[in-house]
Amino acid sequence: MVYAVGVDIGGTKVAIGLISEQGKVLKQTIILQSQYKQPDEMKRRIAAEIHKLIREGGVSKEQVLGIGLGAPGPLDTRTGTLLSPPNLPTWSDYPLVEKLRQEIDLSIFLENDASAAALAEKWLGAAKSCTDFIYLTISTGIGAGLFLHNALYTGATGNAGDVGHMVIDPQGGQCVCGQQGCFEWLASGTAIARNGSTLSGRTLSTKEVYDLYVERQPEYTKLIEQAFHYIGLGVTSLINLYDPQMVVIGGGVSKMGEPLFSYVQNYVKRYALNPSGRSTPIVPSSLEQSTGLIGASASAQTRICSQAGGEEG
Ligand SMILES: [Zn+2]
Repeated sequence: MVYAVGVDIGGTKVAIGLISEQGKVLKQTIILQSQYKQPDEMKRRIAAEIHKLIREGGVSKEQVLGIGLGAPGPLDTRTGTLLSPPNLPTWSDYPLVEKLRQEIDLSIFLENDASAAALAEKWLGAAKSCTDFIYLTISTGIGAGLFLHNALYTGATGNAGDVGHMVIDPQGGQCVCGQQGCFEWLASGTAIARNGSTLSGRTLSTKEVYDLYVERQPEYTKLIEQAFHYIGLGVTSLINLYDPQMVVIGGGVSKMGEPLFSYVQNYVKRYALNPSGRSTPIVPSSLEQSTGLIGASASAQTRICSQAGGEEG
């Protein structure tokens, strides 16, 4: 049996897991970002936890293929550097792969977190049978993993799929990126919480705004349906662009479930340009908490296998 280590780097926590070649999480641990102010401290802690997981998992180092890191963009997967992740400001221009290599003698790869999650969906989730699909994550921000012609499509530097900064409404407010009315600014969990808080005059979470919608409070119904509308619009543009067999939606906002999925499905049915595109299934992610970990480990396995294939060829 061989294994890969998956490391899922998020704004609030870092999850680390030892994953089997069948995608089973053998052991995992979580480190809170708030405990470590500087990336160097966090890097040392990540390295220590990886050594510990391998040791406690009863696995020899020879059985570990490598380490996959999933992190928010912008990043450069060729150099293994985090460039300017908005939710991890202290990690700007941090050469994570090079730094970790100083502590661990294994192959290490960096992948955009949404791309890694798409690999997890292909491997074990909703998109197992697909050769072409889009994984859309809607939570604090919005991002996509593009799986096209049976391979992950990551672009020249690993940043393809940054659909959160596709402008949906130029009349919309100013996004962190400087543009007006980005998809993420209008329809992310952050946007829903922000708009709900403005409406109520107190700070509300995304979940609290959704609960008011479920209680059928008219202003909140309008607010949530506006977000669904923008998601429908974004998904339709993705279908028009990539002609996928399926769109998988994950992230916190996808937990809104049936009302969201039926709204988006109806929007797509009405507006996708290509007749076959109109019936593209829009489905929830079938993986729960471990998507990031499994995806990061899948990314390491995929890259190592393709390198081995390349060397043999
Ligand atoms: Zn933007």
